[in-house]
Amino acid sequence: MTSYKDLGLSNTKEVFKKAVDGGYAIPAYNFNNLEQLQAIIQACVESKSPVILQVSSGARKYANATLLRNMAKGAVEYAKELGYEIPIALHLDHGDTFELCKDCIDNGFSSVMIDGSHHSYEENVALTKKVVEYAHQFDVTVEGELGVLAGVEDDVVAETSTYTKPEEVEDFVKKTGVDSLAISIGTSHGANKFTPEQCTRHADGVLVPPPLRFDILEEIEKRIPGFPIVLHGSSSVPQKEVDTINNNGGKLKDAVGIPEEQLRKAAKSAVCKINIDSDGRLAMTAAVRKVFAENPGEFDPRKYLGPARDALKELYKAKNENVLGSAGKA
Ligand SMILES: [Zn+2]
Repeated sequence: MTSYKDLGLSNTKEVFKKAVDGGYAIPAYNFNNLEQLQAIIQACVESKSPVILQVSSGARKYANATLLRNMAKGAVEYAKELGYEIPIALHLDHGDTFELCKDCIDNGFSSVMIDGSHHSYEENVALTKKVVEYAHQFDVTVEGELGVLAGVEDDVVAETSTYTKPEEVEDFVKKTGVDSLAISIGTSHGANKFTPEQCTRHADGVLVPPPLRFDILEEIEKRIPGFPIVLHGSSSVPQKEVDTINNNGGKLKDAVGIPEEQLRKAAKSAVCKINIDSDGRLAMTAAVRKVFAENPGEFDPRKYLGPARDALKELYKAKNENVLGSAGKA
């Protein structure tokens, strides 16, 4: 058993409370490799933001669970070395079984998500409660989910969104004892969050997605005031990155994200954790494609992964400062 406390990591309790009270959200950035982790830590130390290092079961398969845990441990020391201590959580994204959550809790995670949203309500309650009872023995915080997001993320696939039913949240939180709740109000996984048919097309060809359901969020906040709410699938899919990719040999069609103003508005409410993965993938891919287009002879990975890392860092700093409002809060 490796406790997250021995790795210098924090659970999410304290940072969520401050974020809800302060009207901002903590960034949850996914990582699978060294450059992503460097970018996250550099950006969050420079902007003095708390951060949640997010790992999916796909990332654990890709990078190896032991390596990822030790990278997170290294990240804590690296942040100190950069000169400013920030709270860092290591969080399992979309845990789908008790066994997976337990394995993470036993191996250095400070926070886990149990996503029982694909089960019946009763089964979701039972599974979430089981994970909470285990996690809380070790001061590990737990995120549950009600409602289903559309889109594709690793092993998680859903055709359409099922919005969270506000009338279920109070009962769910009370019965399970979860520390935070992921809800579905119109965000979506991946870089194609909406079909062109779901969007309005502006005269210049730009697709404008349907607005988030702030009415559902407000209804949820009324029923569980001050309770930490989480938004998944909250990338904005910047057109600039999509254009750079497509102008340098890529083929991303009809990529659409969530406008940043809407996320900023959400961050000011009880939404205290915002998950951003696709934007990082786009920024890295754009940077790598640009290097290869400009210099096809390049074959030193540092010469294309380095610029990708720098682009990622700038993206994350801008998110902390302009979207989440977490800059300066560590
Ligand atoms: Zn998600």
